[in-house]
Amino acid sequence: MSLPPWLAATAARLVGAQRAGRLPAALLIHEDPGAGGSLLALRFAQQLLCREHTADGEACGQCARCRRVQQDEHPDVRHIVPDPELKSGQISVDQIRETSALLAMTAYEGGGSLVVIRPAEAMTRAACNALLKTLEEPRAGAHLLLLTSQPSRLPATIRSRCLTLRAPAPTRAAALAWLGQQRPAGAGEWEAALDVLGNAPLAALDHDPAALRALRDDCVQMLEQAVAGRLDIVRVADRWAKDELPLRLSAIENHLTRRALEGAGGGGGSGELRPAAHLPAALQDINIATALRLLDEVRELRMQLHTSLNRPLAMERHLWHVSAAVAR
Ligand SMILES: [Zn+2]
Repeated sequence: MSLPPWLAATAARLVGAQRAGRLPAALLIHEDPGAGGSLLALRFAQQLLCREHTADGEACGQCARCRRVQQDEHPDVRHIVPDPELKSGQISVDQIRETSALLAMTAYEGGGSLVVIRPAEAMTRAACNALLKTLEEPRAGAHLLLLTSQPSRLPATIRSRCLTLRAPAPTRAAALAWLGQQRPAGAGEWEAALDVLGNAPLAALDHDPAALRALRDDCVQMLEQAVAGRLDIVRVADRWAKDELPLRLSAIENHLTRRALEGAGGGGGSGELRPAAHLPAALQDINIATALRLLDEVRELRMQLHTSLNRPLAMERHLWHVSAAVAR
Protein backbone atom coordinates (compact mmCIF):
# COMPACT_ATOMS: atom_id res chain seq x y z
CA MET A 1 0.00 0.00 0.00
CA SER A 2 1.51 3.31 -0.99
CA LEU A 3 1.60 6.16 1.49
CA PRO A 4 -1.64 8.22 1.50
CA PRO A 5 -1.14 11.83 0.32
CA TRP A 6 -1.92 13.36 3.74
CA LEU A 7 1.15 11.60 5.20
CA ALA A 8 3.55 12.69 2.46
CA ALA A 9 4.83 15.79 4.27
CA THR A 10 5.59 13.80 7.43
CA ALA A 11 7.36 11.08 5.43
CA ALA A 12 9.42 13.75 3.67
CA ARG A 13 10.68 14.95 7.06
CA LEU A 14 11.99 11.44 7.76
CA VAL A 15 13.78 11.34 4.41
CA GLY A 16 15.29 14.74 5.13
CA ALA A 17 16.43 13.60 8.59
CA GLN A 18 18.12 10.52 7.13
CA ARG A 19 19.90 12.50 4.42
CA ALA A 20 21.22 14.78 7.15
CA GLY A 21 22.39 11.70 9.07
CA ARG A 22 19.98 12.49 11.89
CA LEU A 23 17.39 9.72 11.80
CA PRO A 24 16.03 9.83 15.37
CA ALA A 25 16.90 7.00 17.76
CA ALA A 26 13.50 7.37 19.40
CA LEU A 27 10.52 8.49 17.38
CA LEU A 28 6.96 9.02 18.59
CA ILE A 29 4.28 9.04 15.92
CA HIS A 30 1.16 10.78 17.19
CA GLU A 31 -1.58 9.60 14.87
CA ASP A 32 -5.20 10.58 14.72
CA PRO A 33 -7.13 7.29 15.00
CA GLY A 34 -7.22 5.48 11.69
CA ALA A 35 -5.07 8.09 9.92
CA GLY A 36 -2.36 5.62 8.92
CA GLY A 37 0.38 5.89 11.53
CA SER A 38 1.25 2.24 10.95
CA LEU A 39 1.98 3.03 7.29
CA LEU A 40 4.38 5.76 8.44
CA ALA A 41 6.03 3.23 10.77
CA LEU A 42 6.45 0.89 7.81
CA ARG A 43 7.96 3.70 5.76
CA PHE A 44 10.37 4.53 8.57
CA ALA A 45 11.50 0.88 8.70
CA GLN A 46 12.07 0.79 4.95
CA GLN A 47 13.86 4.13 5.06
CA LEU A 48 16.17 2.72 7.71
CA LEU A 49 16.91 -0.63 6.06
CA CYS A 50 16.72 -0.02 2.30
CA ARG A 51 20.05 -0.22 0.48
CA GLU A 52 18.80 1.19 -2.80
CA HIS A 53 17.37 4.60 -1.96
CA THR A 54 16.11 6.69 -4.89
CA ALA A 55 18.00 9.76 -6.06
CA ASP A 56 15.73 11.77 -3.74
CA GLY A 57 16.83 9.66 -0.81
CA GLU A 58 13.57 7.75 -0.42
CA ALA A 59 13.39 4.02 0.32
CA CYS A 60 12.89 2.24 -3.01
CA GLY A 61 10.03 0.04 -1.79
CA GLN A 62 11.10 -2.65 -4.28
CA CYS A 63 14.36 -4.21 -3.09
CA ALA A 64 14.50 -7.47 -1.12
CA ARG A 65 14.88 -5.59 2.18
CA CYS A 66 12.00 -3.22 1.51
CA ARG A 67 9.79 -6.16 0.53
CA ARG A 68 10.70 -8.15 3.64
CA VAL A 69 9.90 -5.15 5.83
CA GLN A 70 6.56 -4.81 4.03
CA GLN A 71 5.78 -8.50 4.60
CA ASP A 72 6.83 -8.24 8.24
CA GLU A 73 9.61 -10.78 7.67
CA HIS A 74 12.71 -8.68 8.34
CA PRO A 75 14.59 -9.96 11.40
CA ASP A 76 15.72 -6.47 12.39
CA VAL A 77 12.18 -5.05 12.70
CA ARG A 78 10.11 -6.12 15.69
CA HIS A 79 6.57 -5.16 16.55
CA ILE A 80 5.50 -5.12 20.19
CA VAL A 81 1.71 -5.24 20.55
CA PRO A 82 -0.51 -6.01 23.54
CA ASP A 83 -0.01 -9.56 24.81
CA PRO A 84 -3.10 -11.53 23.69
CA GLU A 85 -2.74 -13.58 26.90
CA LEU A 86 -3.41 -10.45 28.95
CA LYS A 87 -7.11 -9.64 28.90
CA SER A 88 -6.30 -6.08 29.95
CA GLY A 89 -4.98 -5.34 26.45
CA GLN A 90 -1.74 -4.04 27.96
CA ILE A 91 1.90 -4.32 26.97
CA SER A 92 3.74 -5.96 29.85
CA VAL A 93 7.09 -5.18 31.44
CA ASP A 94 8.38 -8.58 30.25
CA GLN A 95 7.64 -7.65 26.68
CA ILE A 96 9.61 -4.42 27.11
CA ARG A 97 12.55 -6.23 28.74
CA GLU A 98 12.73 -8.51 25.68
CA THR A 99 12.64 -5.42 23.52
CA SER A 100 15.50 -3.84 25.41
CA ALA A 101 17.55 -6.98 24.89
CA LEU A 102 16.80 -6.82 21.16
CA LEU A 103 17.80 -3.18 20.94
CA ALA A 104 21.06 -3.94 22.72
CA MET A 105 22.00 -6.62 20.18
CA THR A 106 23.76 -5.98 16.90
CA ALA A 107 21.39 -6.04 13.92
CA TYR A 108 21.27 -9.37 12.07
CA GLU A 109 22.00 -7.80 8.73
CA GLY A 110 24.46 -5.20 9.91
CA GLY A 111 22.09 -2.32 9.12
CA GLY A 112 19.96 -0.58 11.66
CA SER A 113 17.36 -2.28 13.82
CA LEU A 114 13.91 -1.08 14.79
CA VAL A 115 11.41 -1.90 17.49
CA VAL A 116 7.86 -0.61 16.98
CA ILE A 117 5.62 -0.40 20.06
CA ARG A 118 1.92 0.03 19.26
CA PRO A 119 -0.24 1.30 20.69
CA ALA A 120 2.40 2.78 22.99
CA GLU A 121 -0.17 3.92 25.56
CA ALA A 122 -0.92 0.22 26.20
CA MET A 123 2.35 -0.08 28.17
CA THR A 124 1.91 -0.63 31.89
CA ARG A 125 3.63 1.76 34.28
CA ALA A 126 6.33 -0.85 34.93
CA ALA A 127 6.75 -1.32 31.18
CA CYS A 128 7.22 2.45 30.74
CA ASN A 129 9.87 2.49 33.48
CA ALA A 130 11.72 -0.40 31.83
CA LEU A 131 11.57 1.41 28.50
CA LEU A 132 13.03 4.57 30.03
CA LYS A 133 16.20 2.68 30.94
CA THR A 134 16.57 1.61 27.29
CA LEU A 135 16.03 5.17 26.12
CA GLU A 136 18.77 6.39 28.43
CA GLU A 137 21.38 4.05 26.94
CA PRO A 138 20.76 3.95 23.20
CA ARG A 139 22.97 1.75 21.01
CA ALA A 140 24.08 3.26 17.71
CA GLY A 141 21.86 2.03 14.87
CA ALA A 142 19.07 0.88 17.19
CA HIS A 143 15.82 2.74 16.72
CA LEU A 144 12.62 2.78 18.68
CA LEU A 145 9.27 3.88 17.30
CA LEU A 146 6.26 4.52 19.54
CA LEU A 147 2.91 4.68 17.79
CA THR A 148 0.06 6.28 19.72
CA SER A 149 -3.12 8.26 19.25
CA GLN A 150 -3.06 9.30 22.92
CA PRO A 151 0.43 10.62 23.72
CA SER A 152 -0.85 12.33 26.87
CA ARG A 153 -1.23 8.87 28.38
CA LEU A 154 2.54 8.31 28.13
CA PRO A 155 4.84 9.57 30.89
CA ALA A 156 6.38 12.96 30.09
CA THR A 157 9.80 11.41 30.73
CA ILE A 158 9.30 9.12 27.73
CA ARG A 159 7.76 11.76 25.48
CA SER A 160 10.62 14.17 26.14
CA ARG A 161 13.16 11.63 24.89
CA CYS A 162 11.39 11.11 21.56
CA LEU A 163 11.12 13.17 18.41
CA THR A 164 7.37 13.55 17.82
CA LEU A 165 5.84 13.46 14.36
CA ARG A 166 2.14 13.97 13.62
CA ALA A 167 0.08 11.70 11.40
CA PRO A 168 -3.01 13.90 11.07
CA ALA A 169 -6.43 12.74 9.90
CA PRO A 170 -7.17 13.71 6.31
CA THR A 171 -10.08 15.90 5.29
CA ARG A 172 -13.26 13.94 4.65
CA ALA A 173 -12.92 14.57 0.91
CA ALA A 174 -9.32 13.28 0.85
CA ALA A 175 -10.29 10.22 2.89
CA LEU A 176 -13.16 9.41 0.51
CA ALA A 177 -10.98 9.86 -2.59
CA TRP A 178 -8.31 7.57 -1.15
CA LEU A 179 -10.78 4.90 -0.03
CA GLY A 180 -12.33 4.83 -3.51
CA GLN A 181 -8.87 4.16 -4.97
CA GLN A 182 -8.15 1.37 -2.49
CA ARG A 183 -11.40 -0.54 -2.92
CA PRO A 184 -14.58 0.18 -4.89
CA ALA A 185 -17.76 0.30 -2.82
CA GLY A 186 -21.43 0.99 -3.47
CA ALA A 187 -22.76 4.53 -3.68
CA GLY A 188 -22.56 6.29 -0.33
CA GLU A 189 -20.97 3.33 1.44
CA TRP A 190 -17.59 4.89 2.20
CA GLU A 191 -19.38 8.07 3.32
CA ALA A 192 -21.39 5.94 5.72
CA ALA A 193 -18.19 4.22 6.92
CA LEU A 194 -16.71 7.63 7.82
CA ASP A 195 -19.99 8.65 9.47
CA VAL A 196 -19.58 5.65 11.77
CA LEU A 197 -15.81 5.70 12.30
CA GLY A 198 -14.95 9.39 11.88
CA ASN A 199 -12.26 10.48 9.40
CA ALA A 200 -10.36 7.23 9.93
CA PRO A 201 -9.82 5.80 6.44
CA LEU A 202 -7.38 3.08 7.53
CA ALA A 203 -9.92 1.84 10.07
CA ALA A 204 -12.64 1.98 7.40
CA LEU A 205 -10.62 -0.37 5.18
CA ASP A 206 -10.88 -3.05 7.88
CA HIS A 207 -14.67 -3.03 7.63
CA ASP A 208 -17.35 -3.98 5.11
CA PRO A 209 -18.68 -0.54 4.08
CA ALA A 210 -22.09 -1.97 3.12
CA ALA A 211 -22.51 -3.31 6.66
CA LEU A 212 -21.49 0.07 8.11
CA ARG A 213 -24.04 1.83 5.93
CA ALA A 214 -26.78 -0.48 7.21
CA LEU A 215 -25.62 0.14 10.78
CA ARG A 216 -25.51 3.93 10.34
CA ASP A 217 -28.95 4.01 8.74
CA ASP A 218 -30.38 1.94 11.57
CA CYS A 219 -28.81 4.27 14.18
CA VAL A 220 -30.11 7.39 12.46
CA GLN A 221 -33.60 5.94 12.03
CA MET A 222 -33.80 4.91 15.69
CA LEU A 223 -32.49 8.31 16.87
CA GLU A 224 -35.12 10.04 14.75
CA GLN A 225 -37.81 7.86 16.26
CA ALA A 226 -36.45 8.60 19.74
CA VAL A 227 -36.54 12.36 19.14
CA ALA A 228 -40.05 12.02 17.76
CA GLY A 229 -41.07 10.13 20.90
CA ARG A 230 -42.02 7.02 18.94
CA LEU A 231 -39.17 4.64 19.82
CA ASP A 232 -39.63 1.36 21.68
CA ILE A 233 -36.63 2.29 23.85
CA VAL A 234 -36.33 -0.89 25.92
CA ARG A 235 -36.41 -3.16 22.89
CA VAL A 236 -33.91 -1.10 20.85
CA ALA A 237 -31.54 -0.62 23.80
CA ASP A 238 -31.53 -4.38 24.29
CA ARG A 239 -30.89 -5.04 20.59
CA TRP A 240 -28.09 -2.46 20.35
CA ALA A 241 -26.42 -3.73 23.52
CA LYS A 242 -25.96 -7.11 21.84
CA ASP A 243 -25.11 -5.94 18.36
CA GLU A 244 -22.03 -3.81 17.54
CA LEU A 245 -22.56 -1.39 20.41
CA PRO A 246 -19.06 0.18 20.15
CA LEU A 247 -19.63 1.02 16.47
CA ARG A 248 -23.10 2.38 17.20
CA LEU A 249 -21.77 4.65 19.95
CA SER A 250 -19.04 5.84 17.61
CA ALA A 251 -21.67 6.66 14.95
CA ILE A 252 -23.81 8.55 17.46
CA GLU A 253 -20.78 10.44 18.78
CA ASN A 254 -19.79 11.52 15.26
CA HIS A 255 -23.31 12.68 14.45
CA LEU A 256 -23.60 14.66 17.67
CA THR A 257 -20.13 16.14 17.14
CA ARG A 258 -21.18 17.40 13.72
CA ARG A 259 -24.40 18.78 15.18
CA ALA A 260 -22.45 20.66 17.85
CA LEU A 261 -19.83 21.98 15.38
CA GLU A 262 -22.42 23.12 12.87
CA GLY A 263 -24.43 24.80 15.58
CA ALA A 264 -21.28 26.60 16.71
CA GLY A 265 -20.84 27.88 13.15
CA GLY A 266 -17.59 25.97 12.68
CA GLY A 267 -16.62 23.22 10.32
CA GLY A 268 -15.65 19.60 10.92
CA GLY A 269 -12.57 18.66 12.92
CA SER A 270 -10.59 18.90 9.69
CA GLY A 271 -11.63 22.48 9.02
CA GLU A 272 -14.20 21.61 6.37
CA LEU A 273 -17.62 23.18 6.38
CA ARG A 274 -20.30 20.55 6.23
CA PRO A 275 -23.79 21.73 5.45
CA ALA A 276 -26.39 20.89 8.06
CA ALA A 277 -28.42 19.20 5.32
CA HIS A 278 -26.07 16.19 5.75
CA LEU A 279 -27.40 15.65 9.24
CA PRO A 280 -30.50 13.63 10.01
CA ALA A 281 -33.42 16.02 10.48
CA ALA A 282 -33.98 14.82 14.04
CA LEU A 283 -30.50 15.88 15.13
CA GLN A 284 -30.91 19.34 13.60
CA ASP A 285 -33.79 19.85 16.01
CA ILE A 286 -31.53 19.31 19.03
CA ASN A 287 -30.04 22.55 20.35
CA ILE A 288 -26.30 22.86 20.86
CA ALA A 289 -26.30 22.72 24.64
CA THR A 290 -28.31 19.50 24.58
CA ALA A 291 -26.14 18.04 21.80
CA LEU A 292 -23.03 18.73 23.91
CA ARG A 293 -24.61 17.13 26.96
CA LEU A 294 -25.57 14.01 24.95
CA LEU A 295 -22.08 13.99 23.45
CA ASP A 296 -20.49 13.88 26.92
CA GLU A 297 -22.77 11.02 27.80
CA VAL A 298 -21.84 8.99 24.69
CA ARG A 299 -18.12 9.56 25.28
CA GLU A 300 -18.51 8.42 28.87
CA LEU A 301 -20.36 5.31 27.69
CA ARG A 302 -17.61 4.51 25.17
CA MET A 303 -14.99 4.72 27.91
CA GLN A 304 -17.04 2.40 30.10
CA LEU A 305 -17.36 -0.30 27.43
CA HIS A 306 -14.30 -2.06 28.85
CA THR A 307 -15.88 -2.26 32.30
CA SER A 308 -18.69 -4.46 33.50
CA LEU A 309 -21.19 -1.85 32.33
CA ASN A 310 -24.82 -2.98 32.18
CA ARG A 311 -25.08 -2.24 28.48
CA PRO A 312 -28.85 -2.55 27.93
CA LEU A 313 -29.58 -0.35 30.94
CA ALA A 314 -26.96 2.26 29.98
CA MET A 315 -28.31 2.42 26.41
CA GLU A 316 -31.84 2.64 27.68
CA ARG A 317 -30.93 5.63 29.83
CA HIS A 318 -29.16 7.34 26.94
CA LEU A 319 -32.07 6.82 24.52
CA TRP A 320 -34.45 8.28 27.12
CA HIS A 321 -32.24 11.38 27.22
CA VAL A 322 -32.30 11.57 23.41
CA SER A 323 -36.08 11.27 23.41
CA ALA A 324 -36.28 14.12 25.93
CA ALA A 325 -33.85 16.28 23.89
CA VAL A 326 -36.50 18.13 21.93
CA ALA A 327 -39.38 19.75 23.75
CA ARG A 328 -42.64 18.62 22.21
ZN1 LIG B 1 14.54 -0.70 -0.88
